[in-house]
Amino acid sequence: AEAKRQQQVWRWHAAGDVSARARQLGLLSGLESAADSAQLEMWLQPKLELASGQMRSVEALVRWRHPDWGYVAPSEFIPFAEQTGHIGIVTHAMLEQALSTLGRWKLTHPLLSIAVNVSTLDIRDTALPTRIAGMAARHGAPLDMLKLEITESGLMSHADAVMPVLRALCELGVKLSIDDFGTGYSSLSYLHRLPVSELKIDRSFVTQADGAPEAAALLGTIIELGHSLQLRVVAEGVERPEEHSLLQRLRCDEIQGYLIAKPMPLVDFERRLAAM
Ligand code: C2E
Ligand code: MG
Ligand code: MG
Ligand code: MG
Repeated sequence: AEAKRQQQVWRWHAAGDVSARARQLGLLSGLESAADSAQLEMWLQPKLELASGQMRSVEALVRWRHPDWGYVAPSEFIPFAEQTGHIGIVTHAMLEQALSTLGRWKLTHPLLSIAVNVSTLDIRDTALPTRIAGMAARHGAPLDMLKLEITESGLMSHADAVMPVLRALCELGVKLSIDDFGTGYSSLSYLHRLPVSELKIDRSFVTQADGAPEAAALLGTIIELGHSLQLRVVAEGVERPEEHSLLQRLRCDEIQGYLIAKPMPLVDFERRLAAM
């Protein structure tokens, strides 16, 4: 435990200057009250299904509306919250908002699912499935419209510990997606045993593929790998029309990125939905 704490201290020292560190510690200590006072907002970014041109799913991304610092990006507090065991606060806040939204959409947009990002710590918690089921019941939300995005590295680093939780979530009808695929190192034999239904290819592969034949071939191979495992394949970080058409040619199932839409507050998203 001491070695681990020391490692954390080292990471903080490596993370930047004193004021940046002070800000991060300040953020961390304010996380709990931020959740209580609704400062952790769920923003939504749509995904576009290429075959139908329809929006079937949106990703929930946290935005911290801080009273002193304005909007704080996840990159500024998620890694620290994970390292210090505080990530559950964020996860809980996002699940609450996602499930309450799904409860409301049941009548108006029953086919639209919401994907919430969760970290390794969350999916090593054996109480998570029951907690999610309880929240969904409270909000009258359909559990099969909830998706959880878990990074590839998170899944692979604790393969044995997460398997029972993944199975329990799956039995509830919750869908699972592997985020940032291609940046971790997956054991292919393990990958095909995971009860996941979706693979999200990391943005770096999309960016590189544009104009570079070898990189485009690699992207195509990853998509085929996903399909051969019966998974839906989503590409993230699509910014240019050329990337869109390449992914269409490569038979990617869904795309997400600034080209389609940037993440936006729930109210703005619902306004767009109503206008569609
Ligand atoms: P992610 O889950 O891979 O999400 C994709 C990130 O890329 C988001 O950044 C999104 O805003 C951004 N993005 C989307 N389209 C484009 C594009 O076309 N170009 C570029 N350059 N970027 C694009 P964001 O919202 O800053 O989140 C960063 C990461 O923080 C997420 O990566 C995820 O790992 C983590 N995160 C965000 N919200 C949560 C949360 O509620 N819980 C947890 N555990 N992690 C979260
Ligand atoms: Mg994600
Ligand atoms: Mg991702
Ligand atoms: Mg990412």
